Amino acid sequence: MVKRVTVLGATGSVGTSTLDLIERNPHAFEVVALTANRDVEKLAAAAIRTRARCAVVADETRLPALQERLAGTGVEPMGGAHSVCDVARMGADWTMAAIVGSAGLKPVMAALEAGGTVALANKESLVSAGEVMMAAARAHGATLLPVDSEHNAVFQCLDRTAPRGVRRIILTASGGPFRSTPKDAMRGITPAQAVAHPNWSMGAKISVDSATMMNKGLELIEAFHLFPVAADQLAVLVHAQSVVHSMVEYVDGSVLAQLGTPDMRTPIAYALAWPERMETPCPPLDLAAVGRLEFENPDLDRFPALGLAMEVLKAGGARPAILNAANEVAVAAFLAGRIGFLEIAAISADTLSRYDPAAPETLDAVLAIDEEARYFAAERVKDCVA
Ligand code: NDP
Repeated sequence: MVKRVTVLGATGSVGTSTLDLIERNPHAFEVVALTANRDVEKLAAAAIRTRARCAVVADETRLPALQERLAGTGVEPMGGAHSVCDVARMGADWTMAAIVGSAGLKPVMAALEAGGTVALANKESLVSAGEVMMAAARAHGATLLPVDSEHNAVFQCLDRTAPRGVRRIILTASGGPFRSTPKDAMRGITPAQAVAHPNWSMGAKISVDSATMMNKGLELIEAFHLFPVAADQLAVLVHAQSVVHSMVEYVDGSVLAQLGTPDMRTPIAYALAWPERMETPCPPLDLAAVGRLEFENPDLDRFPALGLAMEVLKAGGARPAILNAANEVAVAAFLAGRIGFLEIAAISADTLSRYDPAAPETLDAVLAIDEEARYFAAERVKDCVA
């Protein structure tokens, strides 16, 4: 049966990998909608190639450029953040949520409310609005499939027939480009160095998150919402080779792991074909060439962002939404050259200390917390510049 698919964030790293798999199987998929923020060139080209029904650019000022590129092609051009939500609600069988940051929150909620299958790459939405999103998925009968490679690995290893048999979920972390960098040398890290991940090719924001290890912290919070475990059953292990993508440890001593070459097309393909499997162009894993698998504990002194996220996970409530928003502001400021690398975690910590609202129970409450945290974090960025 042909699967009707929508890709939110189609021009990004995950979006491009998703379209690569879809285009290799043109008879299996029908593209309903593709969305981007500003990149109309890439969006229009992908929409034409995949014969999408519509293409949406969130930044409305780019709509005329999109209309020009799509004239006479049969693809309907649309503009504005509201249109991204409108197409997310159009009822595709399968939606890839690959917008970066909390800009993905409303579209992910719209896709969940439409009740289809949502493949979630946009971890920030689950970090900010975990309870609200999971409740929406349950209420509307939507299926949420994790695409983040670690959570996809856990999803593959988890024995759902015996949830009480799980002792721990262990997320592996590459440690990023500065895994062995002394703390003193971290002060001068540039954006170009921070986005150069040793194993994975990813968008700028998640690359910086990997460099600070905030990414692993956000993933702990993501795992807490996706899987039936308590916060103290989640652990992180540094594994620089990125071959073991995560593990589930059971009470009988068994540890199940999912392995593969570091290529996002494997977890995306798993979510795209689920509950079946599909072929990918990813090279097979050659364990003899890998030789040894190495692991070490994370260093919370050199990577304070991870420790901060662990505290936030335990505290729960509004804390994850504040952490996520502050981190987004700080990462954007770092990428723009306005603050130093070490200030990213410091700004997140300071923002968390500024206010402590009640746990959000609605999407609007999450968005209000997000907005306030962004304001405090932006003020703190100004202090750094001054
Ligand atoms: P990219 O930066 O490569 O792509 C982001 C996508 O979101 C682009 O299509 C971009 O459009 C769109 N976008 C950005 N801002 C907005 C906005 N305000 N409104 C609507 N659309 C917007 O990110 P990645 O693909 O690397 O990451 C996407 C998500 O997946 C993130 O949440 C990340 O944490 C997660 N993830 C990514 C992995 C990876 O390997 N890259 C691995 C695991 C998770 P435009 O191109 O026009 O700017």
